[in-house]
Amino acid sequence: GIPPHELHARHRAVLPDWLALYYQRPLEITHGEGRHVWDAEGNRYLDLFGGVLTTMTAHALPEVTKAVSEQAERILHTSTLYLNRPMVDLAERIAALSGIPDARVFFTASGSEANDTALMLATAYRQSNQVLALRNSYHGRSFSAVGITGNRSWSPTSLSPFHTLYVHGGVRTRGPFAHLDDAEFTAACAEDLEDMLGQTRGSVAALIAEPVQGIGGFTAPPDGLLAAFREILQQHGILWISDEVQTGWGRTGDHFWGWQAHAAAGPPDMLTFAKGIGNGMSIGGVVARAEVMNCLDANSFSTFGGSPVTMAAGNANLTYLLEHDLQGNARRVGGLLLERLRAVSAGLGIVREVRGRGLMLGIELVLPGTEDPSPEAASIVLEETRAHGLLIGRAGGHSTNSVLRIAPPLTLTVAEAEEAATILERALRTAEI
Ligand code: PMP
Repeated sequence: GIPPHELHARHRAVLPDWLALYYQRPLEITHGEGRHVWDAEGNRYLDLFGGVLTTMTAHALPEVTKAVSEQAERILHTSTLYLNRPMVDLAERIAALSGIPDARVFFTASGSEANDTALMLATAYRQSNQVLALRNSYHGRSFSAVGITGNRSWSPTSLSPFHTLYVHGGVRTRGPFAHLDDAEFTAACAEDLEDMLGQTRGSVAALIAEPVQGIGGFTAPPDGLLAAFREILQQHGILWISDEVQTGWGRTGDHFWGWQAHAAAGPPDMLTFAKGIGNGMSIGGVVARAEVMNCLDANSFSTFGGSPVTMAAGNANLTYLLEHDLQGNARRVGGLLLERLRAVSAGLGIVREVRGRGLMLGIELVLPGTEDPSPEAASIVLEETRAHGLLIGRAGGHSTNSVLRIAPPLTLTVAEAEEAATILERALRTAEI
């Protein structure tokens, strides 16, 4: 094959400048197996990012590969104009798992389209295009999803089909609420929401929120926050959309969905999903109460949503996930990894916090002795871990990009977690100097 630097030059000449690429010498990954991937030069890496939380079970999981190839041999695509057995199967299973009563499921090809659809449903149901979103949130790159995204560094346009009101409740680590404890933070955010609703003219359609902010830097709201929000929303008839694109399918260990960590809030009116369910095949979708899902007064369909080959992958992947209790594995191995990462970062000035649940862990880096984000330290750790055969992600509030993201396939073993912690310790120590 051609060397990676030549491919990089061709990539830069033909693809958009704004397409984010990791590493000074970008990686060309050619194959994977289990929790490992290989680059074009034959180097092996332990993959703790899984194609941005998408490789949910494992790379090249034989059960998924078999289901995809069997379906591919029969037919790749039919469209939603015809009955589609694997789509009905997966919809029934997701509806039953969703926790939403009288649930209906609509499949899309991405998380952005899923959020787009949820926003459209909320707008139609409530006859309003005013939406509440959290500061620092990320909901996708379609025009409406990017238009309500609170994280400014990912929202290239300030124009939007929605009038969005941004409330506090996502990130607490910076800004005016940085030093509040859980109860104070919850009260301040609820007050913020009430103030906003008091000043708003006309009705508001929905609040969309990630139960744990993903691109925002793996920050979770305190326990009572979403329940406090829900109470206020219900007084106004405002719908709650839980964006589970990163938090679904047992990733957080304790629960199958992120919203279940806030059980007092009750099930959301809608949840959106994507990423992990297809183990890399493009599946997104919305689950909504029938009353909300069926409020559209027009025919609609999605050409690629529910495509048989993606649905076959989704069914096989979900079966594997449930039969092997990968949520339980995420809780156990994630718990150990969190402890190890806290131990290896103790005493390091660049580490402000190690946080997360299950296999969704973040390490927030700062300039030693300050609370200022250090994207430079994050870059060093990223390069160092890569050099030692480990892939991780990064993200963070606004343009800080200073949180290391660890979100491996949920089959991660204890030995692999130990190996990852050792490599990360060395990389963090290099960045500390
Ligand atoms: N919502 C969240 C929480 C996400 O993290 C993402 C993708 N990173 C999206 C929506 C958009 O999904 P997609 O990239 O599949 O359109």
